[in-house]
Amino acid sequence: MKNIKRKLWVSLAALVLTGSVFAQVSKKDQKILNKIVTVPYVTERVSTLASDEMEGRKIGTEGVEKAANYIEKNFKKIGLKPFENKSYRQKFVTNDIPMENVIGILEGKSKKDEYVIYSAHYDHIGYSGGTEKEHIANGADDNASGVTALFALAKYFKKVGNERTIIFIAFSGEESGLLGSKHYATTIDPAKIVAGINIEMIGKVFNEGEKNAFLTGFDRSSLGTLIQENLEGTDYKLIPDPYTKFKLFYRSDNAPLAKLGVPAHTFSSDAIDKDKHYHQVTDEVETLNMENLVDMIKLIALGTQDIVNGKDTPSRVK
Ligand SMILES: [Zn+2]
Repeated sequence: MKNIKRKLWVSLAALVLTGSVFAQVSKKDQKILNKIVTVPYVTERVSTLASDEMEGRKIGTEGVEKAANYIEKNFKKIGLKPFENKSYRQKFVTNDIPMENVIGILEGKSKKDEYVIYSAHYDHIGYSGGTEKEHIANGADDNASGVTALFALAKYFKKVGNERTIIFIAFSGEESGLLGSKHYATTIDPAKIVAGINIEMIGKVFNEGEKNAFLTGFDRSSLGTLIQENLEGTDYKLIPDPYTKFKLFYRSDNAPLAKLGVPAHTFSSDAIDKDKHYHQVTDEVETLNMENLVDMIKLIALGTQDIVNGKDTPSRVK
């Protein structure tokens, strides 16, 4: 269990010393975060991933390969290292369809062998009901928004540093049954993974209001409460998944890791019970709120930085 009293004392001290409203993350880091995560930054990336050129990013198509190339190019430019054998690609085949997870690493300073994963799927459903341009399901919210968050978080942690090793993963095959994350889960030692932070559909303002996100499977580990504590004193709020009847905890790429005991959960701001664009050709960039995308990325960065820095360790999923 986390020592809340200590946290409170540290928060108060930080408040007195810096006059900051953000309790856990230093003012210097907050400035860096504000500089990196901006509306133009996220707009450019989410728009590229959701452009017609990528043809809805369906597995086995040229479009999804274009997306993988774009992600690799960004990971390289940010300064992430390839995950093994000098490659950013983890190749695998399911039902005769070749796929690739795109993986980049930021090695930790003092806790190199403890891993924190940030992940988002980059594949989507391709054409919906035809082959003409108007039939492309561009998947702007699902999940170009999540991949955009990976770029911003990678850039941020590259700049401010990390004690634990961070693994950034853009999963493929999610829409066809979590294929990329299921494959990835067979290649790891789950004991080394401290947390799995998966990101899905963060481009629209949540029911509960601006600057609010929910976490799936909230009660399955202490990850959610740790993040809530880290967000105390900020404008951001994380709440438990209100859509438990949809079983979202089992429906995204956190699930194959959670099955192995890793505290792996999904962040989202999508009101999935009312979202008329979900898996439709209308899931376009124009329906996104770029300020919300910026806010969600900041929420995730501020809420999880203590995990990256080795101060917080969530309990395992049981
Ligand atoms: Zn999705």
